[in-house]
Amino acid sequence: MIDNILRDIAEILLPEKNTCLVCSYKAPYIQKSYICMYCESLLSRLEGVLCVKCSKPMEHDSDLCGECVKIEKAFDKSLALFEYRDKTKALINDFKYHNKSYLYKMFGYQMVKFLKDTGVTNIKAVVPVPIHQSKELKRGYNQSELLASYISFNLGLPMLKLVKRNRDTTPQSRLEGYARWNNMAGAFDIREGLPVPDKILLVDDIYTTGATVNECSKVLKQNGAEEIICLAIAR
Ligand SMILES: [Zn+2]
Ligand SMILES: [Zn+2]
Repeated sequence: MIDNILRDIAEILLPEKNTCLVCSYKAPYIQKSYICMYCESLLSRLEGVLCVKCSKPMEHDSDLCGECVKIEKAFDKSLALFEYRDKTKALINDFKYHNKSYLYKMFGYQMVKFLKDTGVTNIKAVVPVPIHQSKELKRGYNQSELLASYISFNLGLPMLKLVKRNRDTTPQSRLEGYARWNNMAGAFDIREGLPVPDKILLVDDIYTTGATVNECSKVLKQNGAEEIICLAIAR
């Protein structure tokens, strides 16, 4: 009885529960995943042989990709759920650029499930990759922070905004390859006054070249972090 009343109240307060946030289909099995089976099947999981450091798909069975052999990265591991193409790409673009901030619930649910399935443990804090203040004011939100707060709430970990962006940068999408690494150099600083835990989950939306999470990781490690696991929706 009381359960039914609570469920009815929850339905009123959370009308989108059991609704696919992508296509608006409603079904009881959807619950708080916010995605229907059909839409989920359109997201292409990152699978096969992946670089143990950066999760780049590889044709041949080996531990590290060519780039991770050549360039030493400041993070310990970078994980991603999906390939950044097709429906996944369109949804991330909606999430970032077309005001669909609510998609953080759908992506966040997938990220938490992925972390549990992957068995990433002993994380002490969830840290979002910051965007420049001017961009956040214009957009109204930082998409990585929405994801990080969802993950921190659902895993019972603190979210610490430890990194700040000290200058705006040319959008990485307009640059090629190594120019992206130079573009991000020195773009971040530590936010003073917060404790830096030893093991951190660093959350970003997309992993492109890894230059952004690499620079954030450098700053975090210079200030006491020992292990950094990066997590992106896609790469
Ligand atoms: Zn759907
Ligand atoms: Zn790699």
